[in-house]
Amino acid sequence: MKSLVQNLIPEVINQAISNKTVRKLAVRQLDKKIHDSILEDNSLLFEEEKLDRYYFVSNVVKQVSNCIDKGYISKNVARRMLKVFMSDSFKVNREAHLTDVKCEYKEKYNEYPPKFLVLSPEKACNLECVGCYASCTPGKGTHLDFTLTQRIVREAHDILGSRFITISGGEPLMYSSQGKTILDIFEEFSDMFFLMYTNGTLINKQIASRLAELGNVVPLISVEGYEKETDERRGKGVHKKIREAMSNLREVGVPFGISVTATTKNYEILLTDDFYKYYFDEMGATHMWQFQLMPIGKGKDVMELMITPQQRVEFYKKGEYVTRELRYPMADFWNSSSLCTGCIAYGRWNGYFYIDFDGKVAPCVFVPYYVDKIQDIYDNGGNLADAIQSQFFKNGRNWQRERGFDQKEHKGDYLMIPCSIRDNYANFRKNILTPEAKGIDREAKESLHDKEYKKIMIDYGQELDELTKKIYDRKYRKSLAMHTTK
Ligand code: SF4
Ligand code: SF4
Repeated sequence: MKSLVQNLIPEVINQAISNKTVRKLAVRQLDKKIHDSILEDNSLLFEEEKLDRYYFVSNVVKQVSNCIDKGYISKNVARRMLKVFMSDSFKVNREAHLTDVKCEYKEKYNEYPPKFLVLSPEKACNLECVGCYASCTPGKGTHLDFTLTQRIVREAHDILGSRFITISGGEPLMYSSQGKTILDIFEEFSDMFFLMYTNGTLINKQIASRLAELGNVVPLISVEGYEKETDERRGKGVHKKIREAMSNLREVGVPFGISVTATTKNYEILLTDDFYKYYFDEMGATHMWQFQLMPIGKGKDVMELMITPQQRVEFYKKGEYVTRELRYPMADFWNSSSLCTGCIAYGRWNGYFYIDFDGKVAPCVFVPYYVDKIQDIYDNGGNLADAIQSQFFKNGRNWQRERGFDQKEHKGDYLMIPCSIRDNYANFRKNILTPEAKGIDREAKESLHDKEYKKIMIDYGQELDELTKKIYDRKYRKSLAMHTTK
């Protein structure tokens, strides 16, 4: 019986991709299934937290289906991606979808492995954006050797049981080592799915066609708003190249997302409905990740671009409206922490960690400190799992647990001020960062001794906490009370 169902599912999916009428019916059924399974998930206490998750997942499914209708996603690419998406790594329920690899990891380290890692194999970038988080350099830059990149990805697959990797930069499409490019990695690990953060300017027709053939990569293209705002921060003519890239991707049916960094400059545009309508309806994006300029890398020198706690609250409200009323699949890396039970850094279960172009292993792209370099670990006979066992990483994971992640004691502290570094800086310095941890770059080193920086960061978290208590009480806590009185 089980194998009959297993054989039928791919056939139903195949039909749904090929036929619009079947697809409409399937999407409706799937939506109901998603709703019921999330609402029945007892590991989450707050009804509103469950609803946040439901709306996001449901919106992704609807937007992908709309893009297939419009011919923006080719049927072949859709089939290929669904196959990878249906693998164990994308299922969130801990007990029901454990692989042998994840059990082995748990046996050895007494906790489950992270779901993915962010890998930046190349520091070089062809742009010079104001406040670049990675302090990137134009032209040729530091990069990981291809064999090292290969080993990291293979161990993520074999030792962590991961089927998903995010590639960041620098500009990933500038990566070149030992005669290979990043596309060779995508090709070699064809049962893995890759999200690639890119500035989009190098996606010509040839690259777009190669991505269509590969079928396991979704580019996330960075914009700052419309043409004016994007060109202002990224350089003249960049938005035009981005529009060409999107057109090239649509032509061959490769889905793409949008990545946008909120600053005090583009803040007002991101509060308008038209911004979302433009990228989702006109340009055909399948999803959008919003970031907020973080005071790290070159961003440390332009702190006035960092949005204020009050503006972050406005973004929270806008995000709720965009996902629940406009029904677009948008998530904010900080404000949407209900989607992932708070901070996902430090290599926690269902979370991630970061390896940069120099092989430094950091808890998160936005936590620029490291203890180990991956090459040193390999030279000493270790593997990728050993890279996330430092006390620094363990302190981060303990802090996540104390705040309610892991459902042992569901406090919900992670919902409104989730960030281990920006929203809880005093705690980060006192209880997470260890003396052996080093700054990933000059800015990160300097900030450890900068009293003004410390004060700004601590004040930011305190003000945000004050402002968001009301949202937590009115929205989440109230929904906990409703839940328990049922
Ligand atoms: S495109 Fe990205 S990596 Fe390149 S300079 Fe701009 S922010 Fe930095
Ligand atoms: S440290 Fe902050 S930015 Fe990084 S995953 Fe945690 S909440 Fe997100």
